[in-house]
Amino acid sequence: MNVDLHTHTYPASTCSRITYRDYIAWCTAQQVEAVALTNHGDVTDNRKLEHALAAEGVLLIHGVEVSTMLGDLVVLSPDLDYLATFKDVQEAPRPGSVAADAAVVWVHPAAGGGRSGSSYYPGLERLAGPIIDAVEVYNGSWLDDRFVRTAEQIADQLGVARTGGSDAHEPDGLMTCFTEFPDPIRSTADVVDALKRRVTVPHRGAVKARRRFGLF
Ligand SMILES: [Zn+2]
Ligand SMILES: [Zn+2]
Repeated sequence: MNVDLHTHTYPASTCSRITYRDYIAWCTAQQVEAVALTNHGDVTDNRKLEHALAAEGVLLIHGVEVSTMLGDLVVLSPDLDYLATFKDVQEAPRPGSVAADAAVVWVHPAAGGGRSGSSYYPGLERLAGPIIDAVEVYNGSWLDDRFVRTAEQIADQLGVARTGGSDAHEPDGLMTCFTEFPDPIRSTADVVDALKRRVTVPHRGAVKARRRFGLF
């Protein structure tokens, strides 16, 4: 099953141009089974879209993106109240402080922190390693070789899961990168579990979200 693990909507992400209507229309038209909404330190759109999407048969995976001095982290958890405690820019979570039912993805690691202004430098993974469960290898905005190669090397070195996410801020960008899960995803908890089991496969390329007709 293929899931875009990194998307943004307006207004929770003021930088996004994807409205509720766009988001629901795209998911419905593409017959998306599940998609992760990961706005910048704001879960209000998750709360508003969850039920509207469920009515269309689309599962919303819950997450927030947090910009830290290590770079940008996406925290995924079924607990929206927990996710609501994160801010768009803040210090990185301390090792051992992240909730057991949450997973942390270091997104576009080589591109640095979008809102914190932090830069990647070799060796930073030693600081990030203790708090992350996965590395986003394919990000729709950062697909140049040097970003992908560095992310792959970090994932290898840390021995963590790999993900793909569009980081879409425009409707056209949705699902340009995505994560393949070997088992059906029925909840955010299933995503967290798969990341901790390191069974995900990242992909980049054309949309392949359709039900029953996935190419992977
Ligand atoms: Zn970011
Ligand atoms: Zn993002």
